[in-house]
Amino acid sequence: MAVPKGKTSKAAKRKRRTHKKLMVPGMNACPNCGEFKLSHRVCSNCGHYNGEQVD
Ligand SMILES: [Zn+2]
Repeated sequence: MAVPKGKTSKAAKRKRRTHKKLMVPGMNACPNCGEFKLSHRVCSNCGHYNGEQVD
């Protein structure tokens, strides 16, 4: 089994994690109600998609 040779420094660890974000990718604000929704999906809050009421 591969074993790390040295301890990863705090700086290296933090640099590696700069790409990790708190927010889920592919989320943006709904133009109708302003809630965060998944892109290319019907808004779960108000049911709008592309300016239309879908659900
Ligand atoms: Zn909405």
